[in-house]
Amino acid sequence: MSERTLRVTGRLGLHARAAANLVRVANQFQSTVTLHRLDNSVEADAKSILSILMLAASRGTNLRIVAVGIDEVTALDAVCDLFARNFDEPQIGERQPIAVQEELRCKGLGVSEGIVLGRVLRLQDGTRDVYRAEIDGADLERERRRFRAAVRLSRRQLETIKERAEKELGRGHAYIFDAHLLFLEDAKLTRDVEDYIVKERANAEWAAKVVGDRLLSIYMQINDEYLRERGSDIEDVIQRLLANLTGEGRSHPKLSEDAVIVAQDLLPSTIAELDLNHVRAIATDSGGWTSHMSIIARGLGLTAVVGLRDFYYRTRTGDQIIVDAQRGEVILNPLAATVERYEFTAQTSSPTVTVAPQGVSGPVTTKNGIEIALRANVELPTEFEAIRRFGACGVGLFRSEFLLSRPGLLLSEDEQFGSYRALAEAAGPEGAVIRLFDLGGETGYELSDRPERNPALGLRAIRFGLKNAKVMRSQVRAILRAAKFGNLRLVIPMVADVADIRRAKKIIAEELASLSNEGVEHAQVKIGAMIEIPSAVLTADKIATEVDFFELGTNDLVQYTLAVDRGNDHVSDWFRTLHPAVLFGINRTLQVALDSGIPTIVCGEMASTPAYVVLLVGLGAVDLSMTPAAIPRVRSTLAQIDTAEAEVLAKRCLQCAIADEVEDIVRTEFRIRWPQLFPPKALPAQLAD
Ligand code: PEP
Ligand code: MG
Repeated sequence: MSERTLRVTGRLGLHARAAANLVRVANQFQSTVTLHRLDNSVEADAKSILSILMLAASRGTNLRIVAVGIDEVTALDAVCDLFARNFDEPQIGERQPIAVQEELRCKGLGVSEGIVLGRVLRLQDGTRDVYRAEIDGADLERERRRFRAAVRLSRRQLETIKERAEKELGRGHAYIFDAHLLFLEDAKLTRDVEDYIVKERANAEWAAKVVGDRLLSIYMQINDEYLRERGSDIEDVIQRLLANLTGEGRSHPKLSEDAVIVAQDLLPSTIAELDLNHVRAIATDSGGWTSHMSIIARGLGLTAVVGLRDFYYRTRTGDQIIVDAQRGEVILNPLAATVERYEFTAQTSSPTVTVAPQGVSGPVTTKNGIEIALRANVELPTEFEAIRRFGACGVGLFRSEFLLSRPGLLLSEDEQFGSYRALAEAAGPEGAVIRLFDLGGETGYELSDRPERNPALGLRAIRFGLKNAKVMRSQVRAILRAAKFGNLRLVIPMVADVADIRRAKKIIAEELASLSNEGVEHAQVKIGAMIEIPSAVLTADKIATEVDFFELGTNDLVQYTLAVDRGNDHVSDWFRTLHPAVLFGINRTLQVALDSGIPTIVCGEMASTPAYVVLLVGLGAVDLSMTPAAIPRVRSTLAQIDTAEAEVLAKRCLQCAIADEVEDIVRTEFRIRWPQLFPPKALPAQLAD
């Protein structure tokens, strides 16, 4: 046995990168190498990164290094050498702070209001809740193999990410993936998970979760704040493993008061699951103005910046962060001077939600006497009270799929009935339009574990409903039953043509008949079609003969007309709301509805944006549905507009060949005609000079 006593002198102690280097050196020898803290009895295996991290050896910790085996002397020398070289880490010397502690500014797209100072909480998406399953003795080996396959897959993913990070961020940032790779190879994790599978006859997901949670809870008790915060690295690896084991996933961490959710992408299902009372802001790598994540952020008055590209990998849970939605910017680990400046700003410009003045509700009358209905788009039951607060004429669009807070988990007919009844009651006499589940696409609610190659063009919305008729039937039944308790309508999402409508109506008629036969209380509802894909626009006259009303989904209409993924920040420059082709689609739909004598509710994000609203009414829209918080602003804009003037402008816009020309008209003409309504800052970002 050879041993020596050493002191940890590095400023950050034996953190992940130092530990990774130590494991690499110790692994070159046959001897066992252990580290013993002198101030307590904790010891660690120098060949296990998790074991070293659990030692929580911060700066100043005295350690006894013990090597036992045939090459113990050289092993000990090599380890002590590494300590003397400060783990080969030039970046973390005294005078040179590590990169993550420098202020880092990233530009994205601000999709709501406000400036928030908080702490990063990283969320890895695509992972779900983990359930325990009992595995038969004969299947235990298969379960272990499944786990090993997930480890292999995770390793391949991490190697790719590491390579990319090295190229894009530099070696100094990529080191963290070395540590992640070592976690994956660490027997403390892999052996323990396999042992757990066998001993407890548990499924691999559950075993990984239990072992991961155990490791995390030990890690979270570490006194050194910097070391403790690196617990997010362990969590990252566990989440990756869970995501790679089919279908199941994570439970969300408890949120601190000032949590800023940082994620690559945030599925609506994840947002729905969060304790939103504790979320102060959202910052995501992907996303655009009309992503559901952005729509919800606005609906809830959450400060949000999206489209930050590779920001997620630069953060750690616990890092301080400023999210500035005004400028579309985030600042990671801001300098004290920056915080000081921002804290001042934040107090004066936290989300400014204009509440409807007392008693102002219902439709608005324009300057020339045209009445325009202002309805609410609602995603979550927590928003029900906003319907009244913002003076909405009921609910123009209830995105019912948000009730399904977990992918793969459907609500029973009775549970849905309860929600729809509550919605009908909250909406009041103006009623609510419930959209059949718009599952699939960017909502991330695939119920199959085989991801689609092109989800936006895949089994989404009514296509999903028609293929999963059981799901659709139970929703239809719940809506028809709830209609007995209030004014409800039903709208079919993403119809391509009359065929979709007929198939959907057949199912609805059958469920109506079943409810009557069973003697269950229910009521008939009006049926509408979402017009949001070009084939529906082109055949709108035929569709109009089959339905009671249209809903114009401008978000998808832009996406599908221009073939631009609404959630992909790489093509956000091509997402041109005011493209003449989009205006043509809107104009045609409104005209067809008018000629056919049915109403149209315009419910995409355009209807929440005053400048676009002016064009919409110019094209003939008289029924708008929007984020509740937008209602007061849209109301005050419309009250000062003469729709005849708007019509002249809209006609000019329809003649344009490209989006730039339409935007130019809006920019210049709006300023001339309504300078008080549209000062430069009041125009949407796309129209900024
Ligand atoms: C739309 O597409 O404009 C719409 C209202 O629906 P969603 O944003 O949910 O797709
Ligand atoms: Mg849509």
